[in-house]
Amino acid sequence: MSMADARVIQLVMSLRGQGVTDRHVLGAIERTPRNAFVPDRFLDHAFEDRALPIDCGQTISQPLVVGLMTQLLNVDDRCKVLEIGTGSGYQAAILSKLARRVYTIERYRTLGKEAEARFSKLRLSNITPRIGDGTKGWPEQAPFDRIIVTAGAPVRPDTLLEQLKPGGIAVVPVDNDGGTQTLIRYTRSDDGSLQEDAISKVRFVPLVEGETKAL
Ligand code: SAH
Repeated sequence: MSMADARVIQLVMSLRGQGVTDRHVLGAIERTPRNAFVPDRFLDHAFEDRALPIDCGQTISQPLVVGLMTQLLNVDDRCKVLEIGTGSGYQAAILSKLARRVYTIERYRTLGKEAEARFSKLRLSNITPRIGDGTKGWPEQAPFDRIIVTAGAPVRPDTLLEQLKPGGIAVVPVDNDGGTQTLIRYTRSDDGSLQEDAISKVRFVPLVEGETKAL
């Protein structure tokens, strides 16, 4: 067994102890090499349960948060999923092992292109990445069975929630006053109404509206 294998198994066991109990989610984490998503200078920390810096001043999320959010999303292989905030591509890679298709949007071209190269290298062919402003969602591909936002939204992201199918689930960190967010799970019922459940406090980089200038 390689070092990476032993370390990923240890990580999975630690996540299970902290509430990530869905075996499909744990299996997807186990089969996703986080070392392929972190900058070289952080390789030694790739399998630790912590967020790490990536390019453009952004972060790859903490594995526990990835595990809990993925579990809340309740994805299966019939799901068409939209992710806002591709970042390193790690969360999208995990979703790609559970969903039928993953659409992911990143506003920084540098990050989006790096993530796309990782998806090709790992042969994750059911991920469609795009550079742009994710706050507008992806109207051409809507509606979605699941939507996940991996950046802190200042307010409830109604434009995105309009792209959620009846029976669909969205998981979004929504800002409190003072730099933290509450992780909210939105469930769209078959009659179209939206249920809102506050799950836990989290800390994400901000969801920024608008285009970037060729970054
Ligand atoms: N899911 C990522 C976490 C990335 S951090 C991972 O697994 O690594 C959040 C990302 O959201 C950052 O890369 C940031 O640039 C991006 N982001 C912020 N606002 C955005 C927007 N309006 N549209 C798309 N991406 C956005």
